[in-house]
Amino acid sequence: MNVHPVEEVRRIPVTSPATGKIIAEIEETPVHEVPFFYEQGRKAFASWSTMPIPNRIGFLRKLKQMIVNEMEEIARVISDDTGKVLTESIVADIMPTLDAIDHIIRHAEKVLGRQKVRTPLLLFGKKSFIEYMPRGVVLVISPWNYPLQLAMVPMISALAGGNSVILKPSEVTPLVGKYIEDLFKRSGFPEGTIQVAHGGKEVGAAFTAGKPDYIFFTGSVRTGKIIQQQAAKDLIPTTLELGGKDPMIVFGDANLDRAAKAAAWGAFTNSGQVCMSAERLYVERTVYPEFLEKLQGEVHSLRQGDDIDADVGSMTFPAQKNVVREQLDEALQRGAKLVTGLKPEDWKEGMYLPPTVVTDVEQDMKIIQDETFGPLLPVVPFDTEEEAIAYANGTAYGLNASVWTRDREKARRVSSRLVSGAVVINDVIITVANHGLPFGGAKESGIGRYHSEAGLRIFCHEKAIMEDKGFLNSEIQWYPYKGKYPLFLNLFKSYFSEKRDWVTFARNYISLLRNNK
Ligand code: NAD
Repeated sequence: MNVHPVEEVRRIPVTSPATGKIIAEIEETPVHEVPFFYEQGRKAFASWSTMPIPNRIGFLRKLKQMIVNEMEEIARVISDDTGKVLTESIVADIMPTLDAIDHIIRHAEKVLGRQKVRTPLLLFGKKSFIEYMPRGVVLVISPWNYPLQLAMVPMISALAGGNSVILKPSEVTPLVGKYIEDLFKRSGFPEGTIQVAHGGKEVGAAFTAGKPDYIFFTGSVRTGKIIQQQAAKDLIPTTLELGGKDPMIVFGDANLDRAAKAAAWGAFTNSGQVCMSAERLYVERTVYPEFLEKLQGEVHSLRQGDDIDADVGSMTFPAQKNVVREQLDEALQRGAKLVTGLKPEDWKEGMYLPPTVVTDVEQDMKIIQDETFGPLLPVVPFDTEEEAIAYANGTAYGLNASVWTRDREKARRVSSRLVSGAVVINDVIITVANHGLPFGGAKESGIGRYHSEAGLRIFCHEKAIMEDKGFLNSEIQWYPYKGKYPLFLNLFKSYFSEKRDWVTFARNYISLLRNNK
């Protein structure tokens, strides 16, 4: 689009977090174009929403094949933009995107098709259905940590339902945003069906105020609250996928070798910049020293860098380094001890932070209460099941959690008591990889769910339909009421009694029908 004078275009420099070099420039979308985006989106919606679902799915198939063909190139762009290692770009960003498209291709028609619902006997002669009607223009605002899947999955879910989409990707990873825009263009989606607006929070705020029909936001709690306030002014429905402070509870009878490897991966994958990374580790005191030793060994064996075999990449967003520094400084000043990693004053220049395990922390420290979103893992011993549950539930967040024990009954009992959108038993993070499961948070971790059937239906109005053949001239509950009260009284008493009295029911029903004019 080129409707604005050239001098108004601001350019966003793209810095590679791994090397610190500027690798590209992206044009920011001027905010005065917001109405134009919505106009285009509404125009496209008119025809896209009436296209049969299998035809829309055809576009998704093409998109999927393109991602498969260009997998290596996309992985490179993601790694350049974020500093994550290549393996994580394909395993945790590209694969979940492809799997989500697959899931939607397989299930959209059934999930979004007309659903028949049982009609109660008292409404004899009618049929009931639910229809899923697309909402209109959906605004997707996405973050930088998994810049492909966290933009694409809500986008394709909304598109499958017949909506047009405006994406505002994170300004921190604009190369991926640009690549997504290009992928959709080359997949042949009709013009205006999907549009991408580039820029930072001002651009995001302008699009939020532009009255979309739905907002799907993934990002921080702070921004989520701002967006929800704005959306409330126009009663715009939202889904908010926000931060986490996920606990990992390791009981003494767990497979400790597996749990130690999982803790290292769960805390430090993507340099800890995962909404569902293990951010607090609670270990039963009986195995605490043994477990710490195993964990220390695992963390020491990690290789950091940007080569193809590296385990841990760099941080993505410079400001995030300060959050990690602040939390670690406070903990160390109050007596915490380093098991691995370095004090912030000993960190090297650049965006690589050492995977850091910390002990001797208190529950009221920032390191325990606030999201870190970095490679920092505090470890706390516990004595009883009750204490572990209380610790785990003791923050404002509730996105994911994990419970480690060989006792399946205990695992399920504890899982059921965690206030959390998801729980994993003897593994970490992985619920997100099953697209058949709902995804979302409790407490400040968010509002609403996506993935699963819910993830397709949230982008549609659920429309209730009842159908009558229209043969009778009147209904028993319509006017006139004369003489109907005792008949209704007997009808309902006979119908709703624990032991139904069918004879009385039939007699009164027939009398009411006869009373109909
Ligand atoms: P952020 O809230 O700073 O930004 C997210 C997006 O919102 C960006 O595109 C940004 O430009 C935009 N934005 C910022 N201010 C805005 C405003 N006032 N109005 C409209 N848009 C605005 O978050 P981030 O730093 O990009 O991402 C990290 C956060 O995201 C972490 O808290 C993490 O836990 C969370 N997250 C959650 C999930 C989840 O599914 N629950 C997944 C990944 C990340």
